[in-house]
Amino acid sequence: MITRMVPRLLKHICLRFVTNLFPAPHMPPSLTDALAEPAALTPPVPVGQRFRGRLNYDRAKCIGCRLCLRVCPANATDYIPEEKKILIHNDRCCFCAQCTEICPVKCLTMSGDCMISSYARKESVVTDTGPVQTDVKA
Ligand code: SF4
Ligand code: SF4
Repeated sequence: MITRMVPRLLKHICLRFVTNLFPAPHMPPSLTDALAEPAALTPPVPVGQRFRGRLNYDRAKCIGCRLCLRVCPANATDYIPEEKKILIHNDRCCFCAQCTEICPVKCLTMSGDCMISSYARKESVVTDTGPVQTDVKA
């Protein structure tokens, strides 16, 4: 067993990382400072061009076709029949971006916002973020 493990271990030491480091250039030097002043952790945090952060939803553009509900693997979108609009539970979203691809009017887009953890589930619900912002990745 050890004869198989050692070559593999040596191989992986030489490989480059395939994951990104947590994007925290604004992180204070100590965790205590970070917890005392969470604003220091908020964006702008540089993220990659194809980063998939919190969903943006341009409610005015939505035509209520429900295609996004059909493709969502995480059941993260709810339909509001009386308004013919949707709402998004970002705490359920797995950031697959399938809804952004299928939406016929492109009112769903992935943002660059990665600081979305919260103790309150209601804060994760997106009902309208307005027209696409400049940080949005299609
Ligand atoms: S990104 Fe994926 S998981 Fe999130 S709401 Fe869209 S389809 Fe659902
Ligand atoms: S796919 Fe787009 S237009 Fe259709 S309900 Fe979802 S958000 Fe609205």
